Amino acid sequence: MAAAANSEATVACGNCHEPMQRLALPGHYGRTVEVDLCSHCHLVWFDLTETARLSGPALLDLIGAMAATQRLPHRTLEAKAGCARCGAALKTVHNRSRWGASLHLECRAGHGAYQPFAQFLQEKGLLRAMSRIDRARLLQIQGRIDCVNCGAAIARDEETCRYCGSVPSLLDVARLARALDPEGVLEPQAVHRDAVRQQALQCEACGAALPPGLSVDCAQCGATLAISRLADAHERVVTLGPALRAHAAKPSPEVVKRRLEALDADLPRRREFTAQMEAEAAAQRGHHRLDGDWDWSNLLGSGTNPVRAVLLALVIWFVWYFWR
Ligand SMILES: [Zn+2]
Ligand SMILES: [Zn+2]
Ligand SMILES: [Zn+2]
Ligand SMILES: [Zn+2]
Repeated sequence: MAAAANSEATVACGNCHEPMQRLALPGHYGRTVEVDLCSHCHLVWFDLTETARLSGPALLDLIGAMAATQRLPHRTLEAKAGCARCGAALKTVHNRSRWGASLHLECRAGHGAYQPFAQFLQEKGLLRAMSRIDRARLLQIQGRIDCVNCGAAIARDEETCRYCGSVPSLLDVARLARALDPEGVLEPQAVHRDAVRQQALQCEACGAALPPGLSVDCAQCGATLAISRLADAHERVVTLGPALRAHAAKPSPEVVKRRLEALDADLPRRREFTAQMEAEAAAQRGHHRLDGDWDWSNLLGSGTNPVRAVLLALVIWFVWYFWR
């Protein structure tokens, strides 16, 4: 692992008490993000300050490091597991993102949190549920089903991994490519060609309809669409590494331009939002204090307004009076 580095004293895992592996991951704008990984418990520890978004190269390195630890047997997560910094008890926090539910185990004193590998991948939206058909297909093409969390073999009918308790899931290749390169700077690369189609029931490489329940591969073009073994998934995208790192270090002028344009495009919306907030605040003030600095724009605003009601009544009366 290129990114693995021991920069300071290692921290002991709060579950198995073995030293954790310190990873110095490339952050945004040349900064470094350090995370700790327990190779035995298949947990990643984020300090409170490390929860910021990881860059594409950082995600790639982290997945590579996670995959490498899956050769070791899994140690069960004990109820008495504690914070990596202070040893205090952990609380389970449930997250809900557009990708569904995931969880992390947070220090009650706020030092940081553990995330089992599968929960990390789930939170990033990289996992898909594994159907019965997928299981049969995996056994047919590779002779085993791997636990995406700990790497152990899962039996055909097991509801959860018997070692780590994870629900058997598949890592979606196209979503992984998009997560690594959200700005699409490596578009011409092969994995991105796989990523063109996002429909679940359509092959992401050739567009052919997939039989319901099959996410593993496409019978039409042979593309691998989802993978149960983390190391295999990493192997498919690791070739993007040099280009992702080069982009992170020095984004191309077109990308910088695109980022600035996106900011510019967002400005009118933000201005409008601010103006709206200001108007609402003014309307509130006006509602409670009719005399003083009266703002005529309130008459056109929404909401109830006694002055507007009286004016409206006068107008109706005038119309009725001169019309009859
Ligand atoms: Zn551990
Ligand atoms: Zn703590
Ligand atoms: Zn497992
Ligand atoms: Zn296909």
